[in-house]
Amino acid sequence: MNQFRLAIFCVVLSAPAPAFAQGPTEIRPGFNLFSKEQDVQLGQETAAQVRKQTHVVNDAFLNAYVNQVGQRLANAQEAQESGFKFTFEVVADPSINAFALPGGPMFINTGLLKAVDDEAQLAGVMGHEMSHVILRHGTNQASKAELVELPVALATSGDSGSMLANLAKLGIGLGANSLLLKFSRTAESQADLMGSHLMAEAGYNPMELARFFEMLEAKTGRGGIQFLSDHPNPGNREHAIEDEADRLPQRTYGYQTGQFARMKQVVAGIHEPPPPKPKAQE
Ligand SMILES: [Zn+2]
Repeated sequence: MNQFRLAIFCVVLSAPAPAFAQGPTEIRPGFNLFSKEQDVQLGQETAAQVRKQTHVVNDAFLNAYVNQVGQRLANAQEAQESGFKFTFEVVADPSINAFALPGGPMFINTGLLKAVDDEAQLAGVMGHEMSHVILRHGTNQASKAELVELPVALATSGDSGSMLANLAKLGIGLGANSLLLKFSRTAESQADLMGSHLMAEAGYNPMELARFFEMLEAKTGRGGIQFLSDHPNPGNREHAIEDEADRLPQRTYGYQTGQFARMKQVVAGIHEPPPPKPKAQE
C-alpha cells in the first residue's frame, strides 16, 4: 500500500459517523422532448378541458385554503427553482384523488379533502403532485414513449395553436392510461422523496405523507383507490419516506394554517355528483 492510499484509508477509518443526515436526495428531471414552455402550454390547455369536464368548486374559503397550503409548498427551494407557477383548484368528486398537470395546474378532489386526517397529509399529497410537475414526469413519460410523430407534433403545435389537439392525435392526453398522469414506479419514488422535501420546508412533518399512504393501502381492499392506481406503490414507500426524512436538516414541524377544522366543515357541505355508472356487462 503506498503512502497516498494509506492516508486515504486512515481518513476513511477515522471519519466520525455522521451525526445526521447526508442531506436531501438530489433529483433532477429526466429526458424530455418538450420545452418547459411547452409543459406550461400543455398544462394550461389541458386544465381548460378539465374545468369543462369536471365540477370545479367555487367556494372562496376552500379556494383560499388550498392556495394557502399550496403556496407554502411552492415557496420551497426545489419548487422555486423549477420556475413553474402553481395553481390550486378543488373539484367536487368523491374519489380520493388529486392530480397536477404539466407546468403547474393542480386539481384536488373533495374526496381527498374528506379523507385526510390532518393538514400535513393534505400537504403531503399536494407536495407529491407538485413534485411530478417539477420533475416534469408527465412530459418525460410522453417523451420516452417512442412516438415517432412526437417531435413533429411539438414543432408544429406553435403554428396551429392547440398543442393538445396535436398531441391527442398521438394518444397523449387526459384519457384512460394517459401518459401524462399514469406514473411509473421510479417517478413515484422521486415524487415521494421530493414531496417530503417540500413538506419539510413548509413546516409539515414528512412522515404524515407515509401515514397517508398506509391509510390508503389499508382501504384498498374496500373498492380500490384512484390515487393508488395513478400513483402505484414503488415498494417500501413508507420506509423510503422515513429514510429521506432522516436525511433532512432537523426542523420543528407542526405548521398549520389553523383552518383545517373549518375546511372539513365546508367540504362536508359540498354536493358531489354521483360517480358515472359502470357500463353493463355485455
Ligand atoms: Zn405520484
